[in-house]
Amino acid sequence: MSAQSTAEWINTKEYQDLNFARKDLVINPAKACQPLGALVCALGVEGCLPFVHGSQGCAAYFRNNLSRHYREPISAVSDSMTEDSAVFGGQKNLIDGMENAYTLYKPKMMAIFTSCMAEVIGDDINAYVDKARLDGVIPEDFPIALAHTPSFKGSHITGYDNMLKGFLQELAKPRNEQELNDRLYVVSGFDPSPANLREIKRLLGKMGVEYTLLPDYSDVVDSPNTGTFEMYPGGTPMNEVVDALNAESFLFLQSYSTSVTRKYLKKENVPLEMISMPMGISNTDRFLMKVSEMTGKAIPAEIDEERGRVVDAATDAHPYIHGKRFALFGDPDVLLGTVNFLLEMGGVPVHIVSTNGTPAFQTEMEELLDSSPYGKSATVYVGKDLWHLRSLLINDPVDMLIGDSHGKYAARDAGIPLVRIGFPITDRVNLHRYPTVGYEGTLNLITMIANAFLDEKDRNSDNAHFELLR
Ligand code: SF4
Repeated sequence: MSAQSTAEWINTKEYQDLNFARKDLVINPAKACQPLGALVCALGVEGCLPFVHGSQGCAAYFRNNLSRHYREPISAVSDSMTEDSAVFGGQKNLIDGMENAYTLYKPKMMAIFTSCMAEVIGDDINAYVDKARLDGVIPEDFPIALAHTPSFKGSHITGYDNMLKGFLQELAKPRNEQELNDRLYVVSGFDPSPANLREIKRLLGKMGVEYTLLPDYSDVVDSPNTGTFEMYPGGTPMNEVVDALNAESFLFLQSYSTSVTRKYLKKENVPLEMISMPMGISNTDRFLMKVSEMTGKAIPAEIDEERGRVVDAATDAHPYIHGKRFALFGDPDVLLGTVNFLLEMGGVPVHIVSTNGTPAFQTEMEELLDSSPYGKSATVYVGKDLWHLRSLLINDPVDMLIGDSHGKYAARDAGIPLVRIGFPITDRVNLHRYPTVGYEGTLNLITMIANAFLDEKDRNSDNAHFELLR
């Protein structure tokens, strides 16, 4: 078969059927591995040095991927396990690595998480850390959060979750009902956008809420360029993590990237609530009302005005989004937020692919789709990859693809625009500096999507229809 005929054949329905029947091969999955998510979480606690117990190549991949997304140096170390550690165990690597990292980089704490090799050979990292303390390699009271993050299970969102639980287990003192701290602890979940974290903080600040965002890596992955490198430029203050179990309550803004942590908090009798990611007007309304209900703080007029402006912007842009067909891929919580937004705008989701989605996510998404007349044409695919999505785009075309940069190849083959939301975004600048949550984020979503359609219209118009007014 020639290259030309193969290129034509992969666009046929016959090929799609073979592609959909594929079982033992994954092509371009829309997910990263557990330790990458753990690293993002580890960046979000004050003075914490992320430490990969595993091979150097894994650490290089995480740092490289994150640096390309944030265009920022990402500090993390690894104990460089090689073939001999795979045979004899990684104890020596871990202890030597801890000593070097502690001496050279002077962190306030370390977060140690594993890569595949350490998990395959069953390294007992708890015992290794105990030995390091006994041997005096690190001080007895030096905090070290641990997480097992095997990549042959789960994805980056699971790794984030396991690491967050590791922080609470290591740092937080037991809950004492007589010593509650009156703070609302907010967990955004795996959200690759520092602008989203800042937007959540801005809204909580405007409401006058005493809060802790946990973890908070917004200043670490997006620090100001002052000409001087700072190794630990931000993060949730450690004393607030220590006091976390004494929170008045926790509010989770994602479900599928926080289930392990929520289970842990329930076991520790910490009250918590969970809502959908505040993307779109109705989800943002629910977020603000939930915060108001939990804290007794009123939503100020200033935020009401923001809402009014976004409703106006949605009305202006409505004709360009209403009735358009969309394909989407990404993490479960981000997809739920984005689809909620599209349904508000009269957009029609058609293909929804989540490689790291679960049957529970599929049910939740189908209920959301059922709640709107615009959701009736959609099919939800969990555990499927971007090669599966490509066949869908070719044989059941849509007007736009929404997802991260990995979608650009399928979008090009299908001749449709890609609006970039999710992780990683490695081929456009500064998108992580524009929120997609809150009313401000909804305004950005409206602007990105409607203008992408208008750009397409201009690019594809003949002379007779190339208009100044759109
Ligand atoms: S999948 Fe495993 S081996 Fe590959 S980068 Fe992730 S942790 Fe390392």
